[in-house]
Amino acid sequence: MTALNELTIRQAHNGLVKKEFTCLELARACLARIDGTNDDFNAFLEVFADEASEQARRVDAKIIIGGEVGPLEGIPLAVKDNILIRGKRSSSASKILEGYVAPYDAFVIAKLRAAGAVFLGRTNMDEFAMGSSTENSAYGPTKNPWNPKLVPGGSSGGSAAAVAADMCLAALGSDTGGSVRQPAALCGVVGLKPTYGSVSRNGLMAMASSLDQIGSLTKTAADARIVFKAIAGGDHWDSTAVPDRHNREKTDVKGLRVGVPKEFFIEGMDAEVEKAVREGISRLGEMGATIKEVSLPHSDFALAVYYILMAAEVSSNLARFDGVRYGRREAGDILREVYGRTRAAGFGAEVRRRIMLGTHVLSTGYYDAYYKKAQQARTLVRNDFSRVFEEVDLLAAPTTPTVAWPIGEKFEDPLTMYLSDIYTVSANVAGIPAVSVPCGFKDGLPIGLHLLGRPFGEETILSVAESYEQVSDWLKEKPAL
Ligand code: GLN
Repeated sequence: MTALNELTIRQAHNGLVKKEFTCLELARACLARIDGTNDDFNAFLEVFADEASEQARRVDAKIIIGGEVGPLEGIPLAVKDNILIRGKRSSSASKILEGYVAPYDAFVIAKLRAAGAVFLGRTNMDEFAMGSSTENSAYGPTKNPWNPKLVPGGSSGGSAAAVAADMCLAALGSDTGGSVRQPAALCGVVGLKPTYGSVSRNGLMAMASSLDQIGSLTKTAADARIVFKAIAGGDHWDSTAVPDRHNREKTDVKGLRVGVPKEFFIEGMDAEVEKAVREGISRLGEMGATIKEVSLPHSDFALAVYYILMAAEVSSNLARFDGVRYGRREAGDILREVYGRTRAAGFGAEVRRRIMLGTHVLSTGYYDAYYKKAQQARTLVRNDFSRVFEEVDLLAAPTTPTVAWPIGEKFEDPLTMYLSDIYTVSANVAGIPAVSVPCGFKDGLPIGLHLLGRPFGEETILSVAESYEQVSDWLKEKPAL
């Protein structure tokens, strides 16, 4: 029998309903797995063993008296360290927030809590979600469970590793430029970034507010649908988020038009990654979809647009960490010294780099050349997608140009690191939903197939991902980690 911590959300739910095991046993299986492996992978920064057991016991009590069991009731989840859980520390893996305790639940946490989910702990990440490898954490890098010498991707690397290593059934992450999908691809799990505005960002520490979305890391696409359904929707604390308006119809792959953007198959991408992704796309064809090559002519701009706008928004959003309002404070004789010393001591190198870049692109004399130009180019990138979605129902492409790389390899070279986001950033720039599903291996390391949909088209991409998963051999080939 599969160990309880290895179950998917759906399998665990069925087991709970049939009373094959209790929520407490399920939570304990995850906690034991974390106990046994977290030292190797550094996926969790903190484990809430007592509270998780208590939450699980409460759900068990409800099940015993015959209460209805919701799809997430008693399901053990991990939460990225930039999403607030009331009464718990939350640091975005930064020294500047050392000792900070969240005063309220993020919107998604409140929703999941109400749905009966069990929170196992908070997961490691690149500081303030800036990075592609989880090496920028102030608490040491997370290791890839497929091979601990390799990065898990980032910035939600802790969440991806926790799911891949069966330390939890699913996890929350945030995706500003690929931080859910890219680590999902490199760790062999499913990563969903919803449409901008379909999930409230209330209680997510802001990185770049026009790009940030909360997403899920799960073992299957069916599980991604369950988590998404539970967290979708807006509230009055996030004026960009709208009420949940998704149709819940599962779409048949047959008859769908799948576009393959030619600009996403560039020189420099790994040949075996390309092969696996193209095979995945052919599979969709065999399942009855029409495959068609399309063009997104302004794709070349997406990475530059992202790294200008993101940095500009980062520099504004992170101004709040001034040593007065939150977390850590360094002493100084005048206020300016307090600001300067606190920020110098509290922020890591990558965060400082982006604040400086962002301040630069917003400054007098450079604003028009960088920030304004990037906003104009953003419109071009977005228009490419709108036009292409008149011809096709979704797009299929690679999630990343390579598989996971050795820890340290790109750490000293930010530009090379930024290039690993080449395929993921455009979904954030355009605000559209996208999911990464495992589609093959290179040298035993997982590869991700990237499906991008129309705004609020989560159902379509999840349906395709789910159907693909059923026909792909991937799950059968996956070794136990
Ligand atoms: N890797 C990208 C970056 O470094 C994306 C980060 C994210 O999505 N939070 O900015």
